[in-house]
Amino acid sequence: MTIAPDQDTRDRAPSLDEVELMPEVGNGKRYSLWTIGCQMNESESAQVGAALELAGYRATPDERDADIIVLNSCVVRNSAEQKVVGKLGALQQLKRNNPELKIALTGCMVTGQEEKLTKQFPHVDLFFRPSAVEKLVEIVPELSGVEDDLVELPHYYGAAEQRGEVTAFMPIIFGCNYVCSYCIIPYRRGKERSRPLQSVVGEAWMLAKRGVREITLLGQTVNAYGHDLPGTPDLADLLAAVDGVEGIERIRFLTSHPQKMTTKLIRAVADLPHVCEHINLPVQAGHDYTLQRMRRNYTTDDYRRVIHEIRETVPNVTIATDIIVGFPGETEEHFQGTLDLLAELELDVVHVAMYSPRPKTISSRWEDDVPQDEKHRRHQAVEAQQIAIAARKKGLLLGGVHEVLVDGQQKGRWRGRTRGNQLIFFDAPGTERDWVGKLVDVHVTETHAWHAIGRISE
Ligand code: SF4
Repeated sequence: MTIAPDQDTRDRAPSLDEVELMPEVGNGKRYSLWTIGCQMNESESAQVGAALELAGYRATPDERDADIIVLNSCVVRNSAEQKVVGKLGALQQLKRNNPELKIALTGCMVTGQEEKLTKQFPHVDLFFRPSAVEKLVEIVPELSGVEDDLVELPHYYGAAEQRGEVTAFMPIIFGCNYVCSYCIIPYRRGKERSRPLQSVVGEAWMLAKRGVREITLLGQTVNAYGHDLPGTPDLADLLAAVDGVEGIERIRFLTSHPQKMTTKLIRAVADLPHVCEHINLPVQAGHDYTLQRMRRNYTTDDYRRVIHEIRETVPNVTIATDIIVGFPGETEEHFQGTLDLLAELELDVVHVAMYSPRPKTISSRWEDDVPQDEKHRRHQAVEAQQIAIAARKKGLLLGGVHEVLVDGQQKGRWRGRTRGNQLIFFDAPGTERDWVGKLVDVHVTETHAWHAIGRISE
């Protein structure tokens, strides 16, 4: 079997006509995917879907019809892990009713835990590590002989075309070389491994051929891309290459580490026409004591400097961040530092989470000394402050005309996002016309903290 994305792409990207599509004929068998966690998991599930499509399986929305069910797990938070355990329990009955059913578990829950999991969930037929999609051959004999090719399979569903998806996630680097004290990812995903640049570009061409208009390049530390590849291309080089793919109108990337936000990368965001002016840059805490205990490798002043450089270089940029409240040892003064930093920088989006210890991480050895109700209070304080900032910033859209990539309909309106990743709902005449996948100009008439409303601009 040949995999198209890597062919003939060393010196040039393939034309759309040269891109090979997945076989259209199925073998009558059905698969179902269940995914929890981050966009990396979404993307890796898509790769599993592509492998199963290649084997002749087709997706079913009803697990009871499936011949194989693959669960993709997350253990970053305790609540996510509990959901996976609950789901595995629920599938036990299905397996009893249909002993032929194959069940596989992948994702962060699996790495290094196979023996324990086999005892705990004997009804699961296969456990495989994230990205080890070639292991599927153990329960999908149709993949026999092509295992080695599966690792290069594109990260999309074979059925994506029928679903008319406009946006797609594409992992470009796996693992993480940082060791943030609270984070389980380095233990479960290993050291950083970048995909070859031409493999990524080839996949972007294939996605474009399938109607995808926006691609988000993914990595736990996406801006570490390329240091392990020959010639050490970096994320800016990759963005420039993907920017030339015909049909891809927008490119995003996440998640970036502040320490690796180089001037070259910031310039690429400013200069490349298809790269959107939106950056996801987790700060996690706004006090140097907490940052140091988190082992984030930067100070609040370092973070400020990067934000200022981004804003000076990229006009109309929007910035999102992540915050953890209630980290071990976080006093009221430290937490106030977080509130102050967020008030000062006025970032567009803040994702806030309450700390919970993950086994085997460095911080799990420390006392989880911020009481749960205090974590709740801090969580709400960040959200309350941010909602006011977000509402004010969204208000800047009011009365203006903004380019929106339409990705669907919701509650009787069309829905899409601006280049700055702001969610917009809009009315358009002749709703029988399909706007999905189109870039349209929307006149914004109403704004709220999390979205805006408008009408199509004549
Ligand atoms: S940078 Fe830190 S938080 Fe992000 S994946 Fe790596 S270790 Fe985890």
